[in-house]
Amino acid sequence: MTGTGSTDTTARGEHAVVLGAGIAGMLTARVLTESHGRVTVVDRDDLDAEGQRRGAPQGRHVHGLTETGRLIMEELFPGVTQELREAGVLTPEVLTDTRWYFGGLRAHSTSTGLTAVLASRPLLERVLRSRLATCPEIEIRPRTSAAGLVADAAGRVVGVRVGGPGGHEETITADLVVDATGRASRAPDWLAELGVDRPAEELVEIELGYSSRIYRRLPEHLDGDRAVNMAIGPGRRGATMVAIEGDRWHVTLGGTLGDHPPNDDDGYVAFAASLPSGDVHRVLDAAEPIEDAVPYRFKGSRRRYFERLTTPPEGFVVIGDAVCCLNPVYAQGMTVAAQEAVALRDCLRSGSRDLPRRFHRAAARRIDAAWQTSTGSDLAHPAVEGRRTLRTRLTNRWLKRILVAAHRDPAVARTFLRVSNLVEPSTALLSPSMVRRVLRHGSTRGLVPPAPATPSPEPEVGTPA
Ligand SMILES: Cc1cc2nc3c(=O)[nH]c(=O)nc-3n(C[C@H](O)[C@H](O)[C@H](O)COP(=O)(O)OP(=O)(O)OC[C@H]3O[C@@H](n4cnc5c(N)ncnc54)[C@H](O)[C@@H]3O)c2cc1C
Repeated sequence: MTGTGSTDTTARGEHAVVLGAGIAGMLTARVLTESHGRVTVVDRDDLDAEGQRRGAPQGRHVHGLTETGRLIMEELFPGVTQELREAGVLTPEVLTDTRWYFGGLRAHSTSTGLTAVLASRPLLERVLRSRLATCPEIEIRPRTSAAGLVADAAGRVVGVRVGGPGGHEETITADLVVDATGRASRAPDWLAELGVDRPAEELVEIELGYSSRIYRRLPEHLDGDRAVNMAIGPGRRGATMVAIEGDRWHVTLGGTLGDHPPNDDDGYVAFAASLPSGDVHRVLDAAEPIEDAVPYRFKGSRRRYFERLTTPPEGFVVIGDAVCCLNPVYAQGMTVAAQEAVALRDCLRSGSRDLPRRFHRAAARRIDAAWQTSTGSDLAHPAVEGRRTLRTRLTNRWLKRILVAAHRDPAVARTFLRVSNLVEPSTALLSPSMVRRVLRHGSTRGLVPPAPATPSPEPEVGTPA
């Protein structure tokens, strides 16, 4: 890649290859159309097939999108929210037609100005993919698996080895290769093959278990509300139930530290009955299941510190879950992937020199905030291993009060949800008026304990995650 004249410093490349057509891969491919004449996206899956696919097994579980993630997608693919609506997706306002529970306490219903996108993950992917396919620079190659990097004598990555349909192997040359192959990324092995150090890695184990099932949705369910989110916390069972396209409920039950929901009919409903609010249980008791329950095990949040590599090879960057996969209960993964794609675009706008180092540092700044939220909250439970700084402890204590206050005070509920959706900075929760409200309403004293139909093994009333 070469820089251009003095007014436009954008890196210009002939060809970029993106490995993986998940959310990170698609958003990255879209931003690369601004800097590269051609962008090839390879994915090992058959992307033409409708519905779920092997390469993204998480698609069977509820995928919440933050407002920030939605706005980035809207910026990259203008009109995408409306397109999802036209495909049958409901987009209610968060906290007005959707119910939120933290630590068993329902957050006060109020206007938030946040749009919930209640799409199944396969539909979201399909809409993004169809938009990507209309970009003239893009070629999408399904059933094509990346097997390793190709470097020149100077150590610069100049292409990727792939295996295509029918065992056909080839090298695709490119001046930029982006690894967006998700959690199973082999980037550290590929770097080692080039003689580059593996990135340092950190894992915060939470032993999360999900079980998800689809039910037929009737208008009277949940009094017409569109979603319930009962926060799953460390040591605390929870669930998310959203009205996805096709008049269906997508239900994800979850528990941590080995307390996992069962998948059989009776066990599934019994687990729902043990939740602090009866909202999900009442619907499951009455609704018709239309698919079997599907489990997912998530060991823990894992981060790879590519930004610390002393000699990252030119021509290669890593993005999305391949860099950092976060505990999914906090619903941050797609948003962080979107923020990283925008960070890559911003880095490319100031030229191609030292791109991997600049990009990985910029991505790390986006990841830092999400990592702190996710692992910091998990570390609130003493059984979760990891380094607890004074900041972690104080934040978790303050968070407990905020979540109790959000139950009583709509202004706190609104600000908390807006901060969680990254449309307001976390400092908004520390403004003088917010501090006053949280101190006034954040005590657990006098709370009426929520009553599950059957108690969970260790109910923790009034101590939100
Ligand atoms: C159970 C679960 C629930 C989640 N819930 C949420 C949520 O509510 N909200 C949220 O924002 N995030 C959620 N996430 C995280 C979210 O799915 C990801 O963070 C986000 O999709 C970004 O992932 P990605 O694109 O980097 O990787 P992926 O989505 O995993 O995509 C990787 C792609 O690479 C392909 N691939 C893999 N290896 C190769 C190869 N060698 N060659 C070619 N192609 C390859 C795969 O087929 C796949 O298409 C959840 C994750 C899990 C596990």
